[in-house]
Amino acid sequence: IQSKLPGTGTTIFTVMSKLAEEHKAINLSQGFPDYSCDPDLVQLVSTAMNEGFNQYAPMTGLPALRELIATKANNLYGSDYHPETEVTVTAGGTQAIFTALSSCIGAGDEVIIFEPAYDSYAPAIKMLGALVKPYHMAPPDYEIDWEMVKRLFSANTKMIILNSPHNPTGAVLSQKDIDALIKLTKDTDILLLSDEVYEHLIYDGKKHLSIAAYPELRERAFVIASFGKLLHATGWKIGYCLAPVQLMKEFRKIHQFNVFSVNTPMQKGIASYLEKPSVYNGLSAFFQEKRDQFRKLMSQTKFDLLPCHGSYFQCVTYNRITDQADTDFAKRLIKDLGVASIPVSAFYIRNTDHQVLRFCFAKKQETLEKAVERLITL
Ligand code: GLN
Repeated sequence: IQSKLPGTGTTIFTVMSKLAEEHKAINLSQGFPDYSCDPDLVQLVSTAMNEGFNQYAPMTGLPALRELIATKANNLYGSDYHPETEVTVTAGGTQAIFTALSSCIGAGDEVIIFEPAYDSYAPAIKMLGALVKPYHMAPPDYEIDWEMVKRLFSANTKMIILNSPHNPTGAVLSQKDIDALIKLTKDTDILLLSDEVYEHLIYDGKKHLSIAAYPELRERAFVIASFGKLLHATGWKIGYCLAPVQLMKEFRKIHQFNVFSVNTPMQKGIASYLEKPSVYNGLSAFFQEKRDQFRKLMSQTKFDLLPCHGSYFQCVTYNRITDQADTDFAKRLIKDLGVASIPVSAFYIRNTDHQVLRFCFAKKQETLEKAVERLITL
């Protein structure tokens, strides 16, 4: 058959996790916790199953869960999303991103993304016949010069994809970025897709600036979030999308014929669990401690730490160790040392010679210590 995605291979997360498994390496590559989620949450899901919540949920998500999602977003960001018409529960963040793109992007459209970019964006855009317009961000700070972004605009610019806190770099959008974005999109029809799956993982007293908080941006935006990160349960594959009525209407047209609805007992369990906001209020402190521990451990090695303001990823450079390209070096670390990471070049659409690795620190302290014990030998 004629491939819809010639030149696209297997996602780097699958490649590295598989390699880690083959070599019995400590897996700090794909982003997922190696500790259990709250047993109370598991109990609530199994109670839901025992109580008979085992048939299709409504297409848009369980009303109780949508209510809680809207309340959470509106309380945190001062927005006014309506649970009935502006919230849809999805099978994880990646599905929500794909559905949002499918609902409004078509042949000939151009979509601006900031590379290094989460690896699902570009293939999704290409599959829809649209063109990826990458803006290059560079280490150490991965900053955005919005004047340069403006140069990527054309008559065909349909959407900008934002991601803060950013995967893989841990960079976060500042008020200056938001102001520039408002100015740049004012008087245009450009849509926004804001991937905010790490919204609750932000450090050093910084505040997450959600696109939902700015009426001028909210009116043109799909905002995507993930329960996997919030609940330490990435395998449950539940997330959601927030969007104004007109955009959500189009989103649901696709959603209903793609997944139709998301599994019922987990929605029910999560809805009961989320009644206490303490669940997400303490998350930044929890992960900041992990970040700090990991940075402290890594400072004993020859890796150099890049800033990390959010997400559960720590990026490092390694020119004091080798001049090997990051993909080769990451493979060598798995095979020779038994530690898996992600080469950040995998998140660039165009070739790059930045030599940066990403480590996931959503791990038990002992896992992080064991990994660094090995990395320190370099
Ligand atoms: N978001 C996770 C990461 O960046 C992985 C998601 C996936 O494997 N598709 O590591």
